[in-house]
Amino acid sequence: MKVLVLNCGSSSLKYQLIDMSDESLLAIGICDRIGIDGSLITYTADGKDKITKEVSMSDHKAAVKYVLEALVDDENGVLGTLEELTAVGHRVVHGGEAFSSATIINDEVIKAIEDCIDLAPLHNPANLIGIKACQAIMPNKPQIAVFDTAFHQTMPKKSYIYALPYEYYVKHRLRRYGFHGTSHQYVSGVTAKILKRDIKEMKIIVCHLGNGASVCAVKNGKSVATSMGMTPLEGLVMGTRSGDIDPAIIKFIADKEDLTLAGVMDVLNKESGVKGISGISNDFRDIEVAINEGNKRAKLSMEVFALVVAKYIGAYAAVMNGVDAIAFTAGLGENNKEVRKMVCDYLGYLGVEIDDKLNDVKSVRRDFSTEKAKVRTLVVPTNEELAIGRETKKLLINI
Ligand code: ADP
Repeated sequence: MKVLVLNCGSSSLKYQLIDMSDESLLAIGICDRIGIDGSLITYTADGKDKITKEVSMSDHKAAVKYVLEALVDDENGVLGTLEELTAVGHRVVHGGEAFSSATIINDEVIKAIEDCIDLAPLHNPANLIGIKACQAIMPNKPQIAVFDTAFHQTMPKKSYIYALPYEYYVKHRLRRYGFHGTSHQYVSGVTAKILKRDIKEMKIIVCHLGNGASVCAVKNGKSVATSMGMTPLEGLVMGTRSGDIDPAIIKFIADKEDLTLAGVMDVLNKESGVKGISGISNDFRDIEVAINEGNKRAKLSMEVFALVVAKYIGAYAAVMNGVDAIAFTAGLGENNKEVRKMVCDYLGYLGVEIDDKLNDVKSVRRDFSTEKAKVRTLVVPTNEELAIGRETKKLLINI
């Protein structure tokens, strides 16, 4: 069973072809700058060199066509014909309250994803364009939607209701949804496996620390609390997002900086976070270079970032009345030992104790706690594409 996994952004399309019979990766790549001058496709077939081609891609349909052509290419392709492709799994960011699991896409599902556009105006339209492009080119292949929000639909109401007039929830579906669900689900599952324990009897906190970052409390295999909110802006300090702030700040910035509401939202989404504090970059690799050069604001941005992660871990240990394991994942969680150490240094009171040598290993899944630590700390590389492939397979087998 070969599944094409697609993750469509507004001007990009990331893809992976996975053989789900043994979960091997057959090809991976990205179409970038779709609809913009200088669009290009990268393609790497298993065991071969990366190929980059500049091609004109006016829209996502053109991009999907190039991806399919690359997959069946005489020289570098990994499929004889497109008949070998079983299905397409799409990452969809927002499923609102309509979806608590992956689903086979039909007209009703498309309508429901469209209904969530006001909740995710940047993401859902791009995801829909990818879905429609595939339907147009491959009308007979099953298309599956896997939602970032679905895993968090198990949160109890007290975890997702904001302290705002309740009728806003009723009228506008204003509530916490949470994101990165596919990653939190995958990573918590792997964590339980590494520790050889039954996830149904565990309390796990997953820290997905990338450019976008969120924490999730997973109790007995289910999400019970998460830091992102109605949108991905809430919660942790991120690459360019502010995370939690005093809501009164919005009007204050608008007045002082003479900005419209949209202008302030732009600042909170694109000019804040680690980039805003440091004034340098949203990329922690640049921040680390600056810290080594003695830049105080860069150091401060890392300190604020780590403190907020530690605060959420403390809060979620309280929510679950304990924690057995804390898993770090995504770009930073997997690769930045300083951030992991800074976070864990706050958590001695919980029974966290890390082995510095094990912490200092390059991106490999592992438990990096000392033997006597009461709470296990792990690095678990995420693999959202494989998780989407698995969901797709599960649905097709159950048809
Ligand atoms: P997103 O998918 O949200 O864009 P990522 O999960 O790719 O984000 O994480 C991006 C962050 O991870 C950046 O701040 C970057 O510095 C850090 N990062 C990614 N790869 C590495 C690496 N190999 N070494 C150190 N830091 C890394």
